[in-house]
Amino acid sequence: MHLERIEMTGFKSFADKTVIEFDKGVTAIVGPNGSGKSNLSEAVRWVLGEQSAKNLRGKKMNDIVFAGSQSRKPINIAEVTLIFNNEDRTLPLDFSEVSLTRRINRNGDSDCFINRKPCRLKDITDLLMDSGVGKDSFSMISQGKVEQIFQNKPEERRAIFEDAAGVAKYKNRKTSAERK
Ligand code: ATP
Ligand code: MG
Repeated sequence: MHLERIEMTGFKSFADKTVIEFDKGVTAIVGPNGSGKSNLSEAVRWVLGEQSAKNLRGKKMNDIVFAGSQSRKPINIAEVTLIFNNEDRTLPLDFSEVSLTRRINRNGDSDCFINRKPCRLKDITDLLMDSGVGKDSFSMISQGKVEQIFQNKPEERRAIFEDAAGVAKYKNRKTSAERK
């Protein structure tokens, strides 16, 4: 599985519809300060299930909607779609391409879609659970996290390996079963 494409409109500094295609292999994103590199990674993190506005450098979730600039009016809706190549069926859906979409309105209403069909955010996070891709998984290592990983206690560091090994899913299920 790999990320093939990101499509977004109204997300932070990306007011206009923006489509970014990724080839296989490594992609580096470069640009001057303030050009939107971090915003782009936050767009990915958001669709993968981020629920903390603070982790997206905002106070409330709808702060991610394009707030306007000197030359442009604010926009009312932010929408980001990640399109994954799923030819290897890493995601347990019988589709060669899987799109995950998250949308939020300035008034706070939000929607999620898997292959354009409405779903809950939890359906997205459940779908990703075993894939190694997720907002908290080792696939997203944000600024500052590298240092944190080195400073972690061994048992905290272990969580990263458990996630990579696919054990995290069973631990989560065990915890929620015990809570019931
Ligand atoms: P650096 O190299 O300094 O890390 P960067 O390329 O990561 O920069 P970002 O932090 O992604 O840059 O982008 C910051 C820009 O995004 C700022 O100009 C900020 O005004 C703009 N921005 C953030 N949120 C919004 C929003 N909701 N509406 C409009 N613009 C926004
Ligand atoms: Mg940055």
